[in-house]
Amino acid sequence: MLKAIFSLCVVLFSFNIYAYQLPELQSLEIMKISPSIDNIIFTFNRIKQYKYIRLSNNYFYIAIPNTKFTVKCRLKQRLDVEKIANKTIRKETRIYIRLSNRFNYKYNVILSHKKYLIVRITKKQQAVISKRRAPIVVIDPGHGGKDPGAIGIYDKEKNIVLSIALKVAHYLKEDGVKVILTRRNDTYPTLADRVAVANKDKADVFVSIHANYAAHNRRKAKGLGVYFLNTSSDKRTISLAARENGMSIAQIKDINRIILSMVQTTKIKSSKQLAEDVYKDTLKSGKKTYRYYSGRGVKQAPFYVLIGTMCPSILIETAFLNNPQDALYLHKNRFRTMLAKGIAHGILNFLQNQRISKGKYAYSKFSILK
Ligand SMILES: [Zn+2]
Repeated sequence: MLKAIFSLCVVLFSFNIYAYQLPELQSLEIMKISPSIDNIIFTFNRIKQYKYIRLSNNYFYIAIPNTKFTVKCRLKQRLDVEKIANKTIRKETRIYIRLSNRFNYKYNVILSHKKYLIVRITKKQQAVISKRRAPIVVIDPGHGGKDPGAIGIYDKEKNIVLSIALKVAHYLKEDGVKVILTRRNDTYPTLADRVAVANKDKADVFVSIHANYAAHNRRKAKGLGVYFLNTSSDKRTISLAARENGMSIAQIKDINRIILSMVQTTKIKSSKQLAEDVYKDTLKSGKKTYRYYSGRGVKQAPFYVLIGTMCPSILIETAFLNNPQDALYLHKNRFRTMLAKGIAHGILNFLQNQRISKGKYAYSKFSILK
């Protein structure tokens, strides 16, 4: 499902009558996130204290006080992790981890939900001379081909979002942005294909375009929602993500767990910024044609298509296909044009601010922003 390699290790507990009070290691997984990033995920019943000690460039240990367990591990060869061993010294269990000595590494340790201890290992890149270049934006029209998406009053989701996406691509190109569409006609790239496109071409931004559909009991639901990737416990958001991902609610809960293990604080932060920029501009532009176009806000959700991308990524639910007024406007070419202008404007705003803060792109000013 995910293009990641898992290596699952067995954890053996020694019997301890105080175990109910103490941190217990429940599983240990090693997950390859990208060619240069491995995550080691320790799942505990609960954990408050730990120590991370770096012994050398490729050797470190995690010490957890008041525990006693044994880790048995068979490692996959493609991973950078070469050896995992444990030792209990007085009342402290140490997990020693040795990595390949062919590279230099950077480590981040994150404790999440008092349950997951995540060690992110990043292989250091050789210094690259950064070249100023045009920003690359991936536009992903949702669904397509055998997957119609939601069936609206006037049209299927796959057709409406393709029309909007092609217009967004047009406006971005006009401003010198390199645009990659995950589909340009009625075909069905898998969710993994869509993610792969963004990563292969080292995209700066990934935007997935969709249209929403309300359940029978809330037909009044309408308007724009923009989502960035994070875990969610909100019922409506989970069922929306389940529908867009083509997965069950149970699978979404798994996805939530995977997201936790892939915490990339900087990506979440910048995705949230992108979501806010696009939300604001799309709503403003849409209202120029559709006076009662309304906004539901920027939210976080566990969308599969946003998980694997390395760049800031969002998913736009433009309006509701089964709300009579929203559907009528989604069917109008003029409204789709205004949505596309707004989306492009928001993306360019985001890129421009990034350029200023990171000195990244070759373009001094995007004309659409004037
Ligand atoms: Zn959709």
